[in-house]
Amino acid sequence: MTRRLIGRSCAFALVALTLHAVVSIAADLPRVRLVATGGTISNRAGSRLTADELLLAVPSLSRYVRAEAEQFANVASSQVTLDQWLQLARHINDLYQKDPALSGIVVTSGTDTLEELAYFLDLTVRDVRPVVVVGSMRNPSTLGYEGAANLLEGFRVAAEPAARNKGVLVVLNDEINSAREVTKTDALRLHTFQSRGYGVLGVVDPDRVVFYRDVVKRHTAKSEFDLAGVTTLPRVDIILVYQGATSDLVKCAADAGAKGIVLAAAGAGATAPGQSEGIDYAASKGVFIVTTTRTGSGRIAADRAQPASMAAEDAPAAVLQRRQRNSSSIAGEDLTPLKARVLLMVALTKTQDPATIQRFFTEY
Ligand code: ASP
Repeated sequence: MTRRLIGRSCAFALVALTLHAVVSIAADLPRVRLVATGGTISNRAGSRLTADELLLAVPSLSRYVRAEAEQFANVASSQVTLDQWLQLARHINDLYQKDPALSGIVVTSGTDTLEELAYFLDLTVRDVRPVVVVGSMRNPSTLGYEGAANLLEGFRVAAEPAARNKGVLVVLNDEINSAREVTKTDALRLHTFQSRGYGVLGVVDPDRVVFYRDVVKRHTAKSEFDLAGVTTLPRVDIILVYQGATSDLVKCAADAGAKGIVLAAAGAGATAPGQSEGIDYAASKGVFIVTTTRTGSGRIAADRAQPASMAAEDAPAAVLQRRQRNSSSIAGEDLTPLKARVLLMVALTKTQDPATIQRFFTEY
């Protein structure tokens, strides 16, 4: 009888010890918060997955992190508004400020316009801790849904100390890209997110998260952009350059209230002759003109930022007009038109000085 009692208490002690060990290992795991905004990753036929349901789709999550979740929105990425950009950036800043023990944040997003939101967060979240944006190309009702795998990888990256100080990261398809560099390159394929000439920052392998390079441009904790006091983002439009393009769209953007226009120029900065009048018109109204390339990669140098519509022998009035235009002409450096638009919007919340805006394009 006594021996049986002793045996039983030993068994209890063993269970208690094991439980204690499991609980303390779990308590040691990094805490990572999911902020869900919608997109294909939650777009189940019938009803969208909620933030909590997204977590339940990844049963092995508890091996890596203590996960928590909140619903910020549940819409397609193209429906996300600029006000929501501001709210989300503020919210993430708040979460980090109020919760020093939080290790990382994962944001789910639709993939269509993910690169815009991700770069906005890269410029406006002021913390070294990781913000990882995740999406999926197949929805939860499709065979081969890769959302749960991407989510797990996003959580693993967000929990990874080496992911700190790398700016906002985009994780899909086992790859880690910088929000500044990444672009959606294919409408359907799973390997759609690419950093073109630059390549991935790292990979998420079954055994560990591996980084190969750093982002040298300014971002997050080193950013000088502060959203306090910013209630709206200024309108910035993108105008494509193509053979036979005319001035009316440029004029229309200026008349509609655009504070900036990003030209997705041909090659290293060429515009169509028919667009020059419109560009001059916009510049004369104080609209900032940022020149980028429509090629998908490569750099626009400062001397190519002024669309060369006028020859040296132009009349004095035209020269004056050209000078006015040049003063608000900015070289987009290596940013794609979409990313340049985001930077110009953020830049214009801080300054109207062309030299400072040009510096932003060189440093960020
Ligand atoms: N339509 C979706 C969206 O961007 C596409 C996706 O998530 O892949 O919200």
